[in-house]
Amino acid sequence: MKKILVLEDEISIRSFVVINLNRAGYEVIEAGTGAEAFEQLRIHPDIKVAILDIMLPDTDGFEVCRKIRAADPHIGIIMLTARTQEMDKVTGLMTGADDYVTKPFSPAELTARIDALFRRTGVAGAVESGEIVQGPFRLNTRNRTLEKEGARIKLTQVEYSIMKMFMDNPGKALSREDILNTVWGRDYFGELKIADVNIRRLRIKIEDDPTNPTYITTVWGYGYKWGL
Ligand code: CA
Repeated sequence: MKKILVLEDEISIRSFVVINLNRAGYEVIEAGTGAEAFEQLRIHPDIKVAILDIMLPDTDGFEVCRKIRAADPHIGIIMLTARTQEMDKVTGLMTGADDYVTKPFSPAELTARIDALFRRTGVAGAVESGEIVQGPFRLNTRNRTLEKEGARIKLTQVEYSIMKMFMDNPGKALSREDILNTVWGRDYFGELKIADVNIRRLRIKIEDDPTNPTYITTVWGYGYKWGL
């Protein structure tokens, strides 16, 4: 069964999420504090997706996100944000989250986001094999890993998918819609900005000088282009 961690200290919201995810066929592990979340992740190493509230009694969701991501590059992470926390979305994504859902959210919206994340973090890589080598970059599509000049670069599953899309399309301008459709899926109904934030984070990891990117260049008013 697909296992999800829900970290939320407000019992009413947590119950609402748990009931709806159970109904959608997920097994849900609950936590009310950051400490409980780490304990549950230790007990259940097969948790594939974590849903993290931001305001918590003992820590904040970004710190939890940072620690989970540092320990596990493959787990899917969705932040729960309030409408007033617009900037927090970006902060959350920069600390390693894959997606965010704004409160109040509908069960259908949350489930759709989780389903999409499961598809992306799934075993899609297992059916492919081989490597793509371009310039200093070596993308191993079997292990879903990236090396630059022989040194491993740790990527999240979303970053890997973006990188693969770029390396499959060298020199071609890709629109943000194309990237969103390929990486997040056509049924994803989030914002284009999520592509920008993930690409900003990817640049920090792969560019020689992230403030002056040369591999992932911006195509103004359209999207991005991969080149060497
Ligand atoms: Ca809270």
